[in-house]
This record gives sequence, C-alpha cells and structure tokens, in this order.
Amino acid sequence: MAEQSPALDNLLSESRTFPPSAAFAAQANATADAYAKAETDRERFWEEQAERLHWDTRWSQVLDWSGAPFAKWFVGGKLNVAYNCVDRHVEAGHGDQVAIHWVGEPGDTRDITYAQLQREVCRAANALTSLGVSAHDRVAIQLQMVPEAIIAMLACARIGAMHSVVFGGFSPAALRTRVDDASAKVVITSDGQYRRGKAAPMKSAVDEALEGAESVEKLLVVRRTGDEIGEIPWKEGRDLWWHELLDSQPDEHTAQPFDSEHPLFILYTSGTTGKPKGILHTSGGYLTQAAYTHHTVFDHKAGEDVYWCTADIGWVTGHTYIVYGPLANRARQVVYEGTPNTPHEGRHWEIVQNYKVSLYYTAPTLIRTFMKWGDDIPARYDLSSLRLLGTVGEPINPEAWMWYREHIGGGSAPIVDTWWQTETGGIMISPLPGVTHTKPGSAQRPIPGISAKVVDDSGTEVPFGSGGYLVIDKPWPGMLRTIWGDDQRYKDTYWSTFADAGYYFAGDGAKYDDDGDIWLLGRVDDVMNVSGHRISTTEVESALVSHPDVAEAAVVGATDETTGQGVVAFVILRGGTAGGTASDADNSETVNALRQHVAGEIGPIAKPRQIMVVPELPKTRSGKIMRRLLRDVAENREVGDVTTLADSSVMDLISAGLHKGS
Ligand code: ATP
Ligand code: MG
Repeated sequence: MAEQSPALDNLLSESRTFPPSAAFAAQANATADAYAKAETDRERFWEEQAERLHWDTRWSQVLDWSGAPFAKWFVGGKLNVAYNCVDRHVEAGHGDQVAIHWVGEPGDTRDITYAQLQREVCRAANALTSLGVSAHDRVAIQLQMVPEAIIAMLACARIGAMHSVVFGGFSPAALRTRVDDASAKVVITSDGQYRRGKAAPMKSAVDEALEGAESVEKLLVVRRTGDEIGEIPWKEGRDLWWHELLDSQPDEHTAQPFDSEHPLFILYTSGTTGKPKGILHTSGGYLTQAAYTHHTVFDHKAGEDVYWCTADIGWVTGHTYIVYGPLANRARQVVYEGTPNTPHEGRHWEIVQNYKVSLYYTAPTLIRTFMKWGDDIPARYDLSSLRLLGTVGEPINPEAWMWYREHIGGGSAPIVDTWWQTETGGIMISPLPGVTHTKPGSAQRPIPGISAKVVDDSGTEVPFGSGGYLVIDKPWPGMLRTIWGDDQRYKDTYWSTFADAGYYFAGDGAKYDDDGDIWLLGRVDDVMNVSGHRISTTEVESALVSHPDVAEAAVVGATDETTGQGVVAFVILRGGTAGGTASDADNSETVNALRQHVAGEIGPIAKPRQIMVVPELPKTRSGKIMRRLLRDVAENREVGDVTTLADSSVMDLISAGLHKGS
C-alpha cells in the first residue's frame, strides 16, 4: 500500500441539500455560534453543559487527561445519576408529568409519571440493597422493553451499582459470557416475553445460562406473561419475584452522591467485528453528554415534546437515548415493547398518532423495512405531530433518507443522522436541527464540543473530497473509560493505530465532501480492495438500494485471484421475491440489471462480481449487518461466531438458498 494514500476512493456523489425552515430555526435549541464558542474554550463549553445537572459537589477540574488515554471528567465533582433523572424533576414540581407512556405489544398500556417513577426506583434501590448489592457491584439485566428494565437500571445507578444490560433476545450462552465477564451478583429477568404476538418463556433460558454461574446470588423475576407460558421453573433460595420483593420495600430512599468518575455501567458492543467488548462508562461526563446531546440534537423541549426512541435498551442507544438523556431532561416519552409489525405494519404510525409523538429516533434498517412494506401504510395515519426525525446505527443511504423525509417527516421535518458508538457514550457527529443544511446520507459535522477528523494512514488530515479513517482527536466527556477488566485491550483496540498523534480510532471509514462534510463509509474492516481501488461497502450498498427492485443490500469483498478482492453482494428484492422461492431465471435477469446499475451509478470498478438474491440478511439486534459472516459465505468458509445475531437461523437460510442454486 502506498504511503499516505487515501484510505478510500470517493465514488458516490450526492448533492441535494435541505435548509431548515425559518420557523424551525427560530425556535431551535441549537445555535450556529455554538461551534465557535466550543472551539474557543472546549473545557468551558463542557462545563456549561455539566451545569444542566444537579451536582452535590462541584468539580475542581473539568478534565484530567494526564493519564491518557484514561480520562477523568469533572474531577472531584459528586452527583447521583438517578436523582438527576427522576427526583429533581419531582422536587421541581413536575411529579405529575408523564415520564413514560409504555405500550405493551398485546395492546396493554401504562402511563408512569415522574412521581411514580421515583417511588418505583426507590423501592427497587431498597430491594437491591436488601439483597446485599452495594456500590461497585454488578447487576446483569436481561429484560425486554418493559418499564421494569428502566427502573432496574436507575435503581442500580442510584446505589452506585453497575448494570450490564443484555439484549432480551440473546442466547443463554451470550448471557452467560457477559455474566461471567462482569461477575454479576444479581441477575434480573422476566418470566416470559411477548414477541410477534406470542408469549415466549424467558426465565427458562436464563436458568440454563446461569447453571453453575458462581458469582450469581439472586435472580429477580419480573412478571410479564404470567400463566400464558405455563409453569415457571423456580430455584428456591436464589429466585425472587420482582413485585413481591418490591412490595415489601419502603417508598423512600435517600440518594447518595457518587464521584463523577464512579462507574455507571458496562455494556457489550454489538460484536459486528468480533468478540464483544465490555465498554465501561462512568457517571458525570456520560450524563453530561447524554443530556446535552438529547437537548440539542433532538431539539427537545421539556413539557412540550413527546419523544420516542425505538431502540432496545440492550443497545447503547437505549441507554443514552431512552434512559439517561431523556430522563435527565424531563422528557415525556413513548416506550414500546414489541415488534413494528405486530399486529400490523402500521403499528409505529398508530402509536405516533395516538400519543402525538413529535421527536422520533430510529435506525436505517427499520426505515428500509418500512419502505419495503409500502408508502400506503404510513399514509393511513396522522403523522403531523412529528417535527424532527433521527437515525442511528449505520450509514443511511440517500434513498432511505429521502423516503423518511417525504413519507414520515411530511417533507419538512429535519433529519438528524447521528454517528456515535457504544464507546463514545453519546452522539458525536450530527447535523444540528435548525442550523445545518442537511444532506441525505451524511452525518456532516462533529457537534459543538466534539472534534473529529478524517485522516490517512499516517494520521494526516485528508483534503476535502477525499476518504480515510475517522478519528476523534480530543477527549470528550462521554468517552468510554476502559474495557471492563482489560486496560491493555482498551489501549490496543482504540489508541494504538494512531498512537503518535494520540487519536482515538473508531474503526470506521469516512470521507469529506467538497464542503468538508463527513460521510460515514462503514467499518474499515469492511472496505474492499479491488484492483488497487479501495471501495466502501456502504457506497456499493447505497447504489444497489437506489434501484427500485432492491429492498436491502449487503456487500463484502471476497478474495479474488485476479483483482485481489471481488465485490460480492447479497440483496433482498422488493415485493417478496426471494432467493429461496423465485426461479433462478427470474433472478438472473434482475442480477444483470443490478450489476449494470452499480456500474452506472458509481463506475465499472464497483460492479459486483457476484450478486446473490437472499431472503434475509444476518443482523445484530441493533439492526447492523454482520458482514464478516457474509464474507465467510462468499469465501466458502465455515461461518464464524453468530451469538450476537438477532436471529441465528438466518445464516442457515442463506447458506441453504445458495447451495441449492450451485
Ligand atoms: P463491535 O464494535 O463489537 O463490532 P458495533 O460497532 O456494531 O460492534 P455499536 O457501538 O453499537 O457496535 O455501533 C457503532 C457503529 O455503528 C459505528 O462505529 C458505526 O460503524 C455505526 N454507526 C452508528 N451510527 C452511524 C451513523 N449515523 N452513520 C454511519 N454509521 C453509524
Ligand atoms: Mg464498534
């Protein structure tokens, strides 16, 4: 590889821009001058953001970076995270405001006010204390989207214990690895969960996971499905019903302040690129960034907006943008338990209409799914309450962005495409609503207070119009503090690539356009090298999805004798044409058309060597495509670790379809 070559070739071009409406700009929380202000005195800027919170003791130093890459923010400050998210709103007279409009999948609902939330969190904190859980202990939570999940997280925060939330759909093996890695003392789960209209057992899988788990003293069980799933196995001495334990607890609990750097939670990354890492976040800096970004990027107005983030709490988005950010900002929010097509494909829009949701935050994968289901579905509902839309999790292809704007946002709601990671704790790169002229597919600029760059192999910033590696060149409050139990892995994983420059390397490729706006191009591990051209999987996927026949696409580079790597694409066709069902002749015509389409959109060099029509793509629960598994398929290898797939049978489905054809 030539020294200082750009890391990526710049292929796709997209030139549409959308200025904010004057009306939106006039009322926006974000202001254009914040960029310069933050740049002039970054620490002072973050200090002002920290003032959004209640501190029992003010910090004596904003940032201590002397032990880099181990950061300390708001040094000497003390606060209680749960008090900030709940009690202070009640004390300020907002106890009757709804915090959570919870919607169960079968149609049951619960509205929980801040006063009720306070009572529940206090009882749960007392309950955990009564079980011997104290500050620094770890509590694993495997729950679906029920209010108890949020209550349990806040109860841990309140007593200074760390939670480790494990996605409800993960296998016993995945739960067990996480329980063992963190030596969790208590595990919280539910009897069963509703998924796609059916009650399914949950506790029995947790029992299996905890077989012989030495650290676990108690298993708390939330009752959700009750009799519907029959007899619940019970281990005397270990298992306790959540409601029985909480009923016996006092409603009051005094929240102790903890150090700003007190550990708040461990959360394992999605595992898109390998073995999940236990990301450790701490209190003061994390909550500051959560509250600031939720306020600014979502333009949130307490007491006015109804906010809905569709993420699962098993994912970092659920932590920062369902629990900590919104609650710190006294949001009124919708929390929905189920799948988006139960009992019908308009479920989300029905909820938006019923609760007059004004701020809606979801993932590109779901937007593409909505597109696949058809424009007529959202058209049946009154979506006029929506005034801002957000996306996170993957690069959003311009096609999906435009659809989102037109069909969900009424052609006017600003879209914030937010780039961040489990590791960053909160949003890092995003348009500012009311300020930025948005561009479909681009996350655009680091938000005020954050500094990020696109650099080449040597760490030199690339010129506008070129691609490279996305790095964060200044510490930020919400940054991970380490990988749980493995400081060395923390340094190796994030700080060794650009060690001389001292940059955090996020693993993602990106490019600047001619205006200096940032376009995320996927993982650098996923970048393909075709005859010496470095091509981003994201760009080829975007080109494929811009063809009317394609609902979703995943692209990988497979070893190729002549070109080094060849572009291999997996596509799901629109209108239910699937690899397993359509005739191969039908598909071959489409496949040829698609290859030509890619060549036309971005150039012959990116033309896929092979396009496979498949019924599904392997995805993590947060909706990310696991390209490494597809690479295994494309290179005829045995498929690697599938434990973090939302549905592990997908790989069998894909392999079966392909072998049938060959
Ligand atoms: P692992 O690190 O274990 O492979 P993961 O990176 O998928 O898992 P997350 O922390 O949930 O786990 O995801 C962060 C990644 O998601 C980012 O590094 C980036 O690749 C992608 N991402 C998130 N938001 C955006 C966005 N708005 N645009 C482009 N990519 C995004
Ligand atoms: Mg990652």
